[in-house]
Amino acid sequence: MALIVQKFGGSSVADAEKIRRVAGIIADTYQAGNDVVVVLSAQGDTTDDLLEKAAEINPKPSKRELDMLLSTGEQISISLCAMALEKMGMPVISLTGWQIGMQTNSNYGNARIKEVSCERIRRELDQRRIVLVAGFQGINKYDDITTLGRGGSDTTAVAIAAAMHADLCQIYTDVEGVYTCDPRKVPTAIKLEEITFDEMLELASLGAQVLHNRSVELAKKYGVNLEVLSSYVRKPGTKVKEVTKMEETKISGIAKDSNIARIALIGLKDEPGIAFKVFRVLANKNINIDIILQSIGRDDTEDISFTVAKGDMDAAVEALNANKGALGFKSLEVSDKVCKVSIVGAGMISSPGIAVLMFEALYDAKINIHMISTSEIKVSVLIDAEKADLAMQSIHKKFFGV
Ligand code: ASP
Ligand code: MG
Repeated sequence: MALIVQKFGGSSVADAEKIRRVAGIIADTYQAGNDVVVVLSAQGDTTDDLLEKAAEINPKPSKRELDMLLSTGEQISISLCAMALEKMGMPVISLTGWQIGMQTNSNYGNARIKEVSCERIRRELDQRRIVLVAGFQGINKYDDITTLGRGGSDTTAVAIAAAMHADLCQIYTDVEGVYTCDPRKVPTAIKLEEITFDEMLELASLGAQVLHNRSVELAKKYGVNLEVLSSYVRKPGTKVKEVTKMEETKISGIAKDSNIARIALIGLKDEPGIAFKVFRVLANKNINIDIILQSIGRDDTEDISFTVAKGDMDAAVEALNANKGALGFKSLEVSDKVCKVSIVGAGMISSPGIAVLMFEALYDAKINIHMISTSEIKVSVLIDAEKADLAMQSIHKKFFGV
């Protein structure tokens, strides 16, 4: 007998029929003799709808009240799913974040998990009950409800799996696993049998929306056996683990991030302290910088360009313009019609020439590169947004032959 934690995403429990299907998967796992803990997300677009409802009443509600509201979505899912299992004759109980002792800090809207006691879960499992847990929510030291940030149910599931030393944590979703690329953009994308935690983390933060990246961080830290699989087709998904048996020279995936804008400062003085001053202005506004490019100084001037998240673009431009005199740039150029395309692969460290292949693929497709950045296991390029899908297709063809 094993302890299995399963998590089903919002689209997998969107309506009554889908809930019955999910209940079927849960019941089968239970009847195979396993202890089963299930984490559910809010149905379909419920969380977005709740945010809209809040905005109708008060465009700037307090974060505490917003969390009180948002946490209700998951509560609907667990109670409905419990009713579906009851109807099938299964022993089941649904529990909220506070009932399972999901302790978080007080950062409403994006709370971090401090500890999960799981005592109640254990007691229920001892009674041979299936335990359904509301994802995405916890309580802070004031006994107030918090939420873990959008997509946070994955993190709830992994945290429970880690705390209870579960044998397996399965993340059920509407795709069949982790793909080499987004199958909606690149139809030839291939499902991976396995991927390393590090690669998955990179892909998650580079824009592949399969797993909440904090869930991958947690899984890596506590060595949780993680699998991503489909709620609709019953076949093995993708295993996320520490080391994989993948061929060393290949990459694992290609991701794109469209939530990005590029800002260029032209004609800065070429002297010590300039980068410090520019990025201090932005740091003071809490603006995160991603790729940075500085040109070679010529005629005593240089240019610095960098990328920020789209949502930070206006604030960044405003802050820089407000300091134009002190920073001493001649002009500022800004564009949000750009996109970051990245390749990720743990094998890159040991095989040179991977980046070259990527650049060749872009050349094949006549795509111009604006910026490049690399790390041990990834290469990212900034290109025109309208070319992003073409770029991913061409890169995919180069590495995977399809
Ligand atoms: N319902 C929450 C959201 O939409 C949490 C989740 O789905 O994981 O972000
Ligand atoms: Mg989700």
